[in-house]
Amino acid sequence: MLQKRVPNRLMDNLTPVQRARLMRSIRTRGTAPEKTLGSALKDAGLAYRCHVKSVRGTPDFLMTAGPIAVFVHGCFWHGHDGCRRAVLPRTNACFWREKIGRNIRRDKRVARQLRREGYGVVTVWACQLNDPTRVVRRIQRAQNRRKSSEP
Ligand SMILES: [Zn+2]
Repeated sequence: MLQKRVPNRLMDNLTPVQRARLMRSIRTRGTAPEKTLGSALKDAGLAYRCHVKSVRGTPDFLMTAGPIAVFVHGCFWHGHDGCRRAVLPRTNACFWREKIGRNIRRDKRVARQLRREGYGVVTVWACQLNDPTRVVRRIQRAQNRRKSSEP
């Protein structure tokens, strides 16, 4: 299988202490982006379900119209290409590159399979939730596209 590598330029020069602090902040922020998106979707009056286990990949949100599977991805763990938050630690770079590469491949596989099963798929990066309104508009557009393509 072709391996997508996280580019080398995403390396940094953090000290171990700075790195530990950054990783901790990324991890504890965990579900905050999901909450942000959840309330933005609610404000926009869009119908959705959360963490739908019956759908492949357990989408963070399943938009009833569409249906659209929405995944909220942490920039570091899912390897947001070119993102400041996805910079790899210099120590154990190999380990991280491999681990995150696995996540990227799995995300792509799940999205491909979902599309084949008839779902729309929207990937939302945590950093994009600095502007939740914009993300909601993107999801709305995806819903409208699917509505207009219905027979
Ligand atoms: Zn990002």
